[in-house]
Amino acid sequence: MPTYDYHCKKCKKDFSVIRSLKEHEKGKSACPKCKSRRQVAQLVSNFTTITSRKS
Ligand SMILES: [Zn+2]
Repeated sequence: MPTYDYHCKKCKKDFSVIRSLKEHEKGKSACPKCKSRRQVAQLVSNFTTITSRKS
């Protein structure tokens, strides 16, 4: 299953979710921390090697 990367603007954190395409089409994932969907932006996963990740 594909992995989708998101960034929560509220928590300023990136997170990944594994979900099927069908689930993905239903809408965005909620942030696992604040449960917000509005503040969540999807990252373009094609460029994961370039994006710097702070852990
Ligand atoms: Zn959040």
